Order: sequence, then structure tokens, then C-alpha cells
Amino acid sequence: MTAPSATALLASVFGFPSFRPGQEEIVRAVLAGQNALAIMPTGGGKSLCFQLPALCREGVTVVISPLIALMRDQVRALRAAGVEAGALTSGNTDAETEEVFAALDEGRMKLLYMAPERLASGATLGLLRRIGTSAIAVDEAHCVSQWGHDFRPDYLRIGELRRALDVPLAAFTATADEETRAEIVTRLFDGQPPEIFLRGFDRPNIHLAFAAKDKPREQILRFADARRGQSGIVYCGTRAKTETLAQALREARHAACHYHGGMDPEGRREVEARFQRDDGLIVVATVAFGMGIDKPDIRWVAHADLPKSIESYYQEIGRGGRDGAPAETLTLYGPDDIRYRRTQIDEGLAPPERKAADHGRLNALLGLAEATACRRQRLLAYFGETAEPCGNCDLCDTPPDVFDATEPVRKALSA
Ligand code: ADP
Ligand code: MG
Ligand code: ZN
Repeated sequence: MTAPSATALLASVFGFPSFRPGQEEIVRAVLAGQNALAIMPTGGGKSLCFQLPALCREGVTVVISPLIALMRDQVRALRAAGVEAGALTSGNTDAETEEVFAALDEGRMKLLYMAPERLASGATLGLLRRIGTSAIAVDEAHCVSQWGHDFRPDYLRIGELRRALDVPLAAFTATADEETRAEIVTRLFDGQPPEIFLRGFDRPNIHLAFAAKDKPREQILRFADARRGQSGIVYCGTRAKTETLAQALREARHAACHYHGGMDPEGRREVEARFQRDDGLIVVATVAFGMGIDKPDIRWVAHADLPKSIESYYQEIGRGGRDGAPAETLTLYGPDDIRYRRTQIDEGLAPPERKAADHGRLNALLGLAEATACRRQRLLAYFGETAEPCGNCDLCDTPPDVFDATEPVRKALSA
């Protein structure tokens, strides 16, 4: 029996008429059993790049993923498409776990999602051997980087697992900086460079804008008012602020709710589900709201406070406009934000090297905030890409005065 062709499965299982840019090459490499590292922007369609090959391959593809919510979403979607997929996580009910083992025992399972913590158990390797693991996929592979924001110590066990099973490994992330890339290669592939796919980072449909923080509540309200009825996210630096700002938006007759890590899981799930389902909901959130969201038509993303790094900024605005239609962003920043972010880094427990890296990422974002020419050019340059002025950012819309010195000069002249 020959395996059904990847393109046929793309349509019949996933319902997509075609690959997105970059996907096909990655799928081809993974199908060929090559080790691969794919860097693709948020919303670029990374999941498909390991899910589709898993269906064409004998045996089980084990997917390591950092968040239970993320795994559950993917498993749910796969099962709805008729694919045998399951997850082994601490969030499982006994019945769910039994079902997973039954599918594994009967050799039906194609994709087995697993939290990295599982790898700490000695029994896991035996299990993965027994079930016929034929490939490993690592989602959010930047979690292996000790200097990154999402470091997960158990990701360090993945390299060992790859060696022990001796099967191809494909790693996926949206984080592009060279250091992180190098660290992924060292830790996941023993330094043997895999095939690397580094796709363009530009999300040309997302309008970029920054503004000096003046009266932030009014600034955000004005931005939301101009987009009434459209789904949006407002990111805030603190939990308390998500609650007060959501309240203010409701008072201005917006549908808005808050979301942060201090809420119970049920309350969080409720907001996630509502956001996914409803049109025109505004979620005012900390960065806890993010990785698991897969809503294509988020029309705007605002930052009431400066994000902690240029990567966080990119990832957070990247949640808008995944459907390719125009999306707008507004990032507020002021001296207090900068102080707050600096203190956060300085007072953290990270080793000095990592603190230096964090300051560098924050500085890159400040550079973007204070840019005087096309922001996209600058953002892309940070990720190693060159581009022409974009025509879709506030500085392309309205170029600032050529001479920054105008004001002081005028003052000096009139003195
Ligand atoms: P990433 O993990 O890179 O952030 P996802 O895998 O979550 O992105 O995919 C983002 C969205 O793109 C999802 O809604 C997914 O269904 C959609 N998608 C993926 N591949 C295709 C494709 N070939 N055609 C159309 N939509 C796609
Ligand atoms: Mg993903
Ligand atoms: Zn521009």
C-alpha cells in the first residue's frame, strides 16, 4: 500500500486548498525523514508541518509541546478531522488516559502529544519504544533556550530522547534570533545542523504604531472606539490593570473581559472559548493570554504597557490578522514602562548573562519605539531581514520632521 500523497491529505484531512508559503518545503523534508528546524512566524502554520507528515508515516509521531491548552486544542482539532491523536498530560481524566493507551496498544495512534515533564520519568522512554515511535516533533522549540523567556528545563531532555530513539526530529518555533537558533541546534540535535527553514517574518497586513503614553486609559479607549465591534486584545503589564481597563471598556459599552494567570483555570477557559466563539470581544490580558489562541480574525492588538522585549512584541502583535486581512496595532510606552521593565530584569533571579540578553531585547524594542523611519524595516532588520519602507506603519503614514532638532533650535532662536 502506498501512503496517500501529502497534498491529497492536505485537502481531505485538513481542508486546505494549498500549502502556505514555506510549508511545503518543510513537509517534504520531514517526510523524507530529515532532521529539521523550522522557524516560521506565529500564525504561519507550523502545526501542519508535523501533523501532515505524521499521517503519511508508519508508527507514532510524538509531539512535545509546552502547554496543556495548546495540546488539547490540537488534539481536539485533529480528532474532529478523523485523525487518531491523543495527549498524555497531567490534565487528563483517567478515561482520557485509558483511551490514549487503548489506541496505542491497538496501533491506531498517529500523533501522541506529551508535556516535556513526562520525559523526566524513566518509564517514558520504554513506552515510546514500545509504541513504535517513528518521529519526534518539538513545538515551541525556543523553550529549550536557557536565555529565552519561555525556558522549560525539561526541554533539555529532548536531545537525549532523540539519541535514545534514533528517529528524526523536527523542531518548530517563531523565535528567530541567531543565539536561540544556535542553542536549539546544540541542545536538540547534538550540534549536528539539521535542515534549517527560515521563512520570512513579515506580516505585511499588520499595521504598526507606537505612541508616547500620555493618558493611557483614554488612548486605549479611543483606539477601541474606532474599532467597535471588532475582536481585539489589549495587553497590560499587570493583572490589576487588566481588570480595571476591562471595566473601563465595559463602561464605554464595549464587550470586554479580563484574563490573567491569577484566574482559576475554568475562568480562563471560559474567556478563551468566548473569544474564539464571539465576534467583537475585547480581551484585556497579561501575556498569559496567547500561546493557545488560534483565532484568525483578531482585528487589533493594543499594548497599554510596553512589552518586555522585541520578541514578545512581535509575538503579541502577531496574534492579529492571521487570516491575512488588515489588522491594527498600537503600543504605548513611557518612561515608567522602561523603568518597570528594567527593574523586572534587574531584580529577577536570572544569571547575569541572561539579564544582559534581556536588556538587549528590551533595548531593541525601545529602538523600535523611538524609530524615526519605517518601523517594519527596523523590526525585520532585527530578525535579520532587509526590506523596503513598508507603507503600513505610523512612520510611513506620517514621516516625522526630518530634523529632530527643530524644537530646541526654535527655542534657542527665540530665547
Ligand atoms: P503557528 O503554530 O505557526 O502559529 P498554526 O499551526 O497554529 O500556526 O496555524 C495558524 C492557522 O493557520 C491555523 O488556523 C491553521 O488552521 C491555518 N493554516 C495552517 N496551514 C494552512 C494552509 N495551508 N491553508 C490555510 N490555512 C492554514
Ligand atoms: Mg504553533
Ligand atoms: Zn513602514
